[in-house]
Order: sequence, then structure tokens, then C-alpha cells
Amino acid sequence: MTAAAGTSAVEQLEALGVGGILWQLAKDGQIVDIRCEMPQCYCHRGRRHFDPRPPPSPSPSPSPSPWSPTADHYPRLKKHGGHLTPDNVRLGHKLCNQLDYTWRTQINALLGKKMSLDAIAAHLNAKKVPNDPRHEPVDGFLRSKGIRFVGAALGRQADAHPD
Ligand SMILES: [Zn+2]
Repeated sequence: MTAAAGTSAVEQLEALGVGGILWQLAKDGQIVDIRCEMPQCYCHRGRRHFDPRPPPSPSPSPSPSPWSPTADHYPRLKKHGGHLTPDNVRLGHKLCNQLDYTWRTQINALLGKKMSLDAIAAHLNAKKVPNDPRHEPVDGFLRSKGIRFVGAALGRQADAHPD
């Protein structure tokens, strides 16, 4: 636990050097808990630990810590026309965000090539792409069932997915 109890979300974000959409959401009461919202969090200090962003100046500014806060375009990726609006943003660690993005774009690209789900699974397994945590690994390997789940999560709204 690094966040002091009683500190508001806005104050926490300001202490981390975060402005923009995340700050606005916190100010509007739409972020009440400063934690990494990625499906898988890789931070060994936990979802609630964040390193401050480096100040914008002097340039060149040091590159941000992997555990600095970022605003992720979700569920609609920026490359698909998504904007950082209140309905399309989630807070995450920089590194967790990057890994999630890599996963989503790789699956998207393969779906676009009309590869079957089994072929995609085989392709990703051959490249040793880490399994996505949103589904249970089967023998440590990616299976087509998982791909289907990810495909649904990528904008095809998995409403009919009871869980
Ligand atoms: Zn994280």
C-alpha cells in the first residue's frame, strides 16, 4: 500500500504528475481508486503502486518509469479511431499498458488476415507470445477458445458471455 489513506484520487494523480483525461475523470468522481486496470498487472509492488511521471522539462526529459501511470485507449484502440474520452479510457502502468496493447494488436492483425482461430493460436504459440491472462491457459499454451474471447473483447461486445 503506497497510497495514503484518505488521500483523494485527484491528489494522488497530482502527486504523480498526471493531468489530462485521468485527472479530469478523478475530478468528476469517475476514478475513485488509483490502481492499474489492465487485465494483467506486472508490477511487483502491486496495482496501487505508481512511480511519478518525470516533469515535462527540462528537455530531454528522462523516460518515464515502467510503473508510471498512463491513460489507455480502451475498449477502442487509438488506431481504430478511439479517443481518450471518459467512456474510452482506463488507467494503467506504462508497462502493463504496452504489453496489453501488443497482445491486442497482434491478435487483430491475424484476424484481419482471415486466419482461423486455431491457426492464430498455432502462430502465436510458435512465436512464444505469452498467454493472455484473460483466459485460462491450457497446458501453458494459447488455445482457440481464448482467442475467441479476446476477439469478443476487442469491440465485438461479448454481451452474451456469462461468467
Ligand atoms: Zn500494472
